[in-house]
Amino acid sequence: MCDLGCPRPVPPYITLLMNDLTATETPPRLPSLAGMTRDEMAFALLEMGAPGFRAKQLWHWVYYQGARDFADMTTLSKAFRAELPEHFTLARPETATLQESKDGTRKWLLRLDDGNEVESVHIPEKDRGALCVSSQIGCTLNCEFCHTGTQTMVRNLSAGEIVGQVMLARDVLGEWPSPKEGRLLSNIVMMGMGEPLYNFDNVAAAIKIIMDHEGIAISKRRITLSTAGVVPMIRRCGEELGVNLAVSLHAVRDDLRDQLVPINRKYPITELLKACNDYPASSNARRITFEYAMLKGVNDSPADARELVRLLKGLPAKVNLIPFNPWPGTPFECSGKKAIKVFADIVNDAGYSSPVRVTRGQDIMAACGQLKSESRRLKASERASGATPAA
Ligand code: SAH
Repeated sequence: MCDLGCPRPVPPYITLLMNDLTATETPPRLPSLAGMTRDEMAFALLEMGAPGFRAKQLWHWVYYQGARDFADMTTLSKAFRAELPEHFTLARPETATLQESKDGTRKWLLRLDDGNEVESVHIPEKDRGALCVSSQIGCTLNCEFCHTGTQTMVRNLSAGEIVGQVMLARDVLGEWPSPKEGRLLSNIVMMGMGEPLYNFDNVAAAIKIIMDHEGIAISKRRITLSTAGVVPMIRRCGEELGVNLAVSLHAVRDDLRDQLVPINRKYPITELLKACNDYPASSNARRITFEYAMLKGVNDSPADARELVRLLKGLPAKVNLIPFNPWPGTPFECSGKKAIKVFADIVNDAGYSSPVRVTRGQDIMAACGQLKSESRRLKASERASGATPAA
């Protein structure tokens, strides 16, 4: 048995590594239970030598009660409560800054364990609210009109880091233990930084934690995953998670979409719409949302609206028109009010609901497509010199 309790003998290279570790001054950070899947939590407890039923109790404290302190876990024996902090923490991502818009929208800049930063946004309504959650630091997609797209991809977020965004927001909103009704964090939209279907495994693990009835308990009907169109992953998303789907369409012709949403060159509009047609979790009651950013003189003509209607024929769809949110240096402008109205009316008259998304949090750069952190990928030479990633 090694010191960590694993049953196999310790191979020589691990011993070397352990010697190396003991030579460094800062002790390794303890893992946080907040963000672990059920399996991870069960395994971590097993390694610690705790009996199996503890995992269920701990799950309740971590994800239903939202405990921040092991001492509060009153159904656990005192001895066990005292032992837990030797192995784990209950830490959430650290808040680097928290900004509040005049409309109540809150934007967190979160600092992760490796120093990288990522944003999440809470958009409150009167009796509910949505949290816009990030799935990656940066993005690989390079959509021309999106601010996040100007930031290079740094890395995928872990499941724990995705769940951590939700837990932190709940801490701030004071929504523990998981309220049954009247939640201000009632909905989750995977519409923050990154492409969730390019980080499917971690996003799926996180969403399963968030949906778990014995914990945070946000239903799949209140979770929407937005994709720019990673066609091969769309079916799996519906089958494994069953969440609502949103698709960032933004153009109705391949030549224009190739330019605005470059993933279209790989998965063109017809293939994307076929995947939507086959989406297992959609129905007339649970329509697929097609997001369409209104870009002046680019994609906002009445002919575009009519083509959109033609493309969506037969699909359980609704259209979300997003007034383009400007950011420093962008060449695009938002369509005029009149153009948006004409466009919306054509889509609406064809039987598709087409609300114009009310822009929220623009004064703190928290609106759709405005998120961008300063994190960047370090060069090998910078890593060796111990530079911090957030430059
Ligand atoms: N990568 C995923 C998740 C991001 S969701 C996706 O593309 O769907 C963010 C939504 O806001 C997407 O529909 C995106 O295209 C849109 N968006 C990006 N920049 C925008 C901007 N400046 N104004 C309005 N909408 C924007």
